Amino acid sequence: MRDVVPAPVTDQPVAFIDLQAQRARIADRIDAAIGRVLAHGAFIMGPEVAEIERRLAAHCGAKHVISCSSGTTALIMALMSKDVGRGDAVFVPSFTFTATAEVAVLVDATPVFVDVDPETFCMDAASLERAIATAKQTGLRPACAIPVDLFGQSADYDALYEVARKHGLWLLDDAAQSYGATHRGRKLGSVTEITATSFFPSKPLGCYGDGGAVFTDDDEVQRRLVQVRVHGQGKGRDDTVRIGLTARFDSLQAAILLEKLAIFDDECAARNKIAARYTDGLKDIVQTPQLRDGATSVWAQYTIRSTRRDKISTALKAQGIPTNVYYPKPIHQQQPYRGYPVAGGGLPVTEQLSQDVLSLPMHPYLSTHDQDRVIAALRAALS
Ligand SMILES: *Cc1c(COP(=O)(O)O)cnc(C)c1O
Repeated sequence: MRDVVPAPVTDQPVAFIDLQAQRARIADRIDAAIGRVLAHGAFIMGPEVAEIERRLAAHCGAKHVISCSSGTTALIMALMSKDVGRGDAVFVPSFTFTATAEVAVLVDATPVFVDVDPETFCMDAASLERAIATAKQTGLRPACAIPVDLFGQSADYDALYEVARKHGLWLLDDAAQSYGATHRGRKLGSVTEITATSFFPSKPLGCYGDGGAVFTDDDEVQRRLVQVRVHGQGKGRDDTVRIGLTARFDSLQAAILLEKLAIFDDECAARNKIAARYTDGLKDIVQTPQLRDGATSVWAQYTIRSTRRDKISTALKAQGIPTNVYYPKPIHQQQPYRGYPVAGGGLPVTEQLSQDVLSLPMHPYLSTHDQDRVIAALRAALS
């Protein structure tokens, strides 16, 4: 008999976001849900679409949920429903995904860039105040601000509303990365006049394609959003009451999202455990994420700050651990956005963050073994 020599245990590469691990958990339920849609054949505005809107409303406490074709579309629909357009200033952070600023340009308004807080990375209320002054000097009408709950943590709505109310602005919450997070115990979706979110697959609550939703308590805004979603239709197909889009959420994606929503709170709890463990293992050597008092996060990203970020990412990569930089170049420095105004005093925090942030692997199915590998590799890189 020959000796069987066991192969040496080699670690597999770590996944930055592992959608297959989630699929393994609910594959049967998702396949059955897809099968039901294929069988009934109501691919557009089928029963699953109404059902996911009801479930999301119950989940976050919003009166109305209007599902749609993407997070970007959700933001556009929100601006269109409030007639934001030419001459209007829309205040946006520059340290975010491009879509937040893009939508202002798409409705013919002017994005005005606002700086962020160095610890939470969310819109800074003092910079918003300065940006409003800048807009007025430029002859723009301050219309609304789009705070982003960056990397999963809710923005500071108390401070932002103090400025917004003073200047008659309404707030559109870009919760594309943060559905499920809370501000003072209230889930996003029920905190600002209108909230937009994304169901892009890699977001904390994602479907298997593009999707999004708009949340509001305002009946008039809800009526307009429903019209905008389908070509501005009023009473049926032959009654056009405004300019709209074709922006519906598919029944198939709604069916998938229903199954994912059923395990979402459990997944958020897992993300919070992993984030706490990362912080325990790393807080003495890098700036770990800071949660504001009264805010929770769904940890779309776990993002550290270090002046030695490149050294860290190279060392981790050598051990099969991926990292990402969100965002290496702020929007106000990107070519199509260079002509738009920035808040008085500039955006020094945004520009510094783009040089030193680094996001680590984060998903609900990251094993404790892999969490330990990330922590150990990062500590070794800086030792
Ligand atoms: C992903 C994202 C969006 C856009 O969502 P899509 O569904 O991809 O259109 C908007 N804002 C932020 C902050 C995002 O992260």
